[in-house]
Amino acid sequence: MTSLQKPAQHLKAKGMKPGSRRPAKELCSECGLCDTYYIHYVKEACAFLNQQIAELETEAHGRRRNLENWDDVYFGVHQDMMQARKKEPIEGAQWTGIVSTIAIEMLNRGLVEGVVCVQNSKEDRFQPQPIIARTPEEILAAKVNKPTLSPNLSVLEQIEQSKMKRLLVIGVGCQIQALRAVEKELGLEKLYVLGTPCVDNVTRAGLQKFLETTSKSPDTVVYYEFMQDFRVHFKHEDGSTETVPFFGLNTKELKDIFAPSCLSCFDYVNSLADLVVGYMGATFGWQWIVVRNQTGQEMLDLVGDLIDTQPVIAQGNRKPAVQQSIPAYDKAVTLPMWAAKLMGVVIDKIGPRGLEYARFSIDSHFTRNYLYVKRNHPEKLEAHVPDFAKQIVEQYNLPNS
Ligand code: FAD
Ligand code: SF4
Repeated sequence: MTSLQKPAQHLKAKGMKPGSRRPAKELCSECGLCDTYYIHYVKEACAFLNQQIAELETEAHGRRRNLENWDDVYFGVHQDMMQARKKEPIEGAQWTGIVSTIAIEMLNRGLVEGVVCVQNSKEDRFQPQPIIARTPEEILAAKVNKPTLSPNLSVLEQIEQSKMKRLLVIGVGCQIQALRAVEKELGLEKLYVLGTPCVDNVTRAGLQKFLETTSKSPDTVVYYEFMQDFRVHFKHEDGSTETVPFFGLNTKELKDIFAPSCLSCFDYVNSLADLVVGYMGATFGWQWIVVRNQTGQEMLDLVGDLIDTQPVIAQGNRKPAVQQSIPAYDKAVTLPMWAAKLMGVVIDKIGPRGLEYARFSIDSHFTRNYLYVKRNHPEKLEAHVPDFAKQIVEQYNLPNS
């Protein structure tokens, strides 16, 4: 720095102490930004204080969503979409390990010097521990979802201090919105962003309640996912799988466990990542890939030889099921287990598949979240709900209050 250059303003700020109330108050998703001196930018950067998806899409991808194209409306700016799976899945990854594999390839080929990802703490398999990984082993140790709010951005100060110039960040939508908003302040030559979709996240305490209410053996669960066959799949330490139909979940008990941030989130599909790897737009056993821009395509090309791909499909009609889910959620309807299992089997046979399943999941979460914001933060409704989400919600009849 020359004597004429002023130090960046944020260097004078100080991250907040763990446990202190964050600027977004109860809507804070603990993304980690406020743990660092980048809290200086929180009013503009926080996904819950300043929703600016369209502006950041234009910066990251060169254009915002086209609201006349329903694929854009639902899945965000993209240039390609497909189903994929690793030819040799990574044992213990969330799905087949495409995320970890891309990160390892980027590091091994020297595209980046470090990877922001999240391992678990030594004491607790689900307690998130964000790190900047510098070896493939450290990336592999971050495989599998930590299904809790995770302060991934808490390592941002270390980036500037380490003088890294090329970085990959792996994260969920709220983390990536804040990251994009401060991207220019990080002093990087190149930032790559690998996102996953995210919905219905919980605090560590909320996760414990979910496991205890839903699984027969909560202490041995190492992994779970809400799958496209309308069942929650739990994998246990001994390798066994337990399945519970969505419709049999104890909705009354579980209604309160979701974090208020996640009940007011409309960035399910991680709009601002270069490349998104999820599962909900794919058929059972496959992952769903959304390539948002040329950087995302370059990242995907690195693993071209290691994955099988096939085109996305869309089957069924989600709309009646979504419309029924709106009052059912409000009334916290729980079916007896025999009826839930039967309903699961029927819906799995005739229900929405592929992209239509993804739309089902987006519609049911956006309608629920729209009502949550309207009822709990009416003053935020207009500015906080993005236009694409309003368009999605307008397809349904919602209760007036
Ligand atoms: P792996 O190779 O196992 O790598 C997983 C990566 O996720 C790791 O690099 C790790 O750093 C990162 N990670 C783990 N936990 C977190 C966290 N809490 N915050 C940020 N990063 C994390 N996909 C859908 O299609 N629909 C959904 O509804 C959906 N919900 C999700 C909810 C959560 C909380 C998370 C974290 C992910 C969700 N996903 C969802 C994504 C999906 O479950 C898989 O993570 C994705 O398909 C990648 O699988 P993989 O085997 O390639 O990942
Ligand atoms: Fe800060 Fe992130 Fe919480 Fe917003 S969500 S208040 S940026 S920690």
